[in-house]
Amino acid sequence: MDKVNVRDLSPEGIEAYITHLGKEKYRARQLMKWLYHFDASSFQEMTTLSRQLRHHLEETASLDGPEIAKILTAADGTKKVLLRLRDGLHIESVLIPGRNHWTACLSTQVGCAMGCRFCFTGALGFRRQLTPGEITGQFTALRFRTPEGPKVKNVVLMGMGEPLANYDHTVTAVRILTDDAGLGLSNRRVTISTCGLAPWIVRLGQDVCVNLAISLNAPDDERRDYLMPINKRYPLATLLAACRDYPMPGRRMLTFEYILMAGVNDSPADAEKVARLLKNLRCKLNLIVFNEFPGAEFRAPAPEAVAAFQQTLLRHHYTSIIRASRGSDILAACGQLTGRAD
Ligand code: SF4
Repeated sequence: MDKVNVRDLSPEGIEAYITHLGKEKYRARQLMKWLYHFDASSFQEMTTLSRQLRHHLEETASLDGPEIAKILTAADGTKKVLLRLRDGLHIESVLIPGRNHWTACLSTQVGCAMGCRFCFTGALGFRRQLTPGEITGQFTALRFRTPEGPKVKNVVLMGMGEPLANYDHTVTAVRILTDDAGLGLSNRRVTISTCGLAPWIVRLGQDVCVNLAISLNAPDDERRDYLMPINKRYPLATLLAACRDYPMPGRRMLTFEYILMAGVNDSPADAEKVARLLKNLRCKLNLIVFNEFPGAEFRAPAPEAVAAFQQTLLRHHYTSIIRASRGSDILAACGQLTGRAD
């Protein structure tokens, strides 16, 4: 019989597992702390658990996670981390430097089935879902096994894959990331990015209260259909209705990501359309200059076009930030991850 990997279990799942073994509930919290506060690599290290429980866990469970295979550093300090999974497949995470802290960008799938035309990950197709332990395991690897680890304060699920197409595992991973006995992050510091799986957006808001980023990239259905095939299933009206239903406490805002591609979606008239489209939504916009990759059919717009696009949005009172492209020289920027070991 396959051993259960305790890193794939939610906090409630670990509790159920431990009580099923006839042990007290609080042992589950102790076990979690060994995994997520001390990065234990064996059950034998968990000396606050009885010898009998440790033995039982060894017989029935495992606790391995992704291993760092390689780290590449870009000119701007961004680090692309290649991780090897148990079955030999590879994924990538990215460490992005900020003024006082680092942000970890994690993957949720090996590859991606969504086929966005501007994305290198999408061009390579889908291999498999990541388990919850493989999603959080990227974070533990970065936190405990890189020099930047102690300064990693934010998590964005924006790496390889569409998080909401791996819904249950993503939600379990978020529960582990935000549990006190887990990785202890505030849910304000966790952001999930989606290409627009509308029905799951509403569910996500009910299940976990994290920041939501939507990859918009077009001002109308015609162009979004072309750039992002998911739009044919969930067109803009459906997507934006789901966004309106997403619960956001306090002063939080939705984020719309907009990748600017020369001659495709970058004119001031397009910015006007975006402004009308998002009217009355509590949101901000991140403008990202297209990151070119081998074989890409798009080009980055001129800086003047980017500035004009931003100005139009600012005139309509949208917070809109031009996101500096991070790590593009090592293919670590948005939409450039491939999980290839070369
Ligand atoms: Fe998948 Fe995101 Fe790339 Fe679209 S942009 S293909 S959803 S990884």
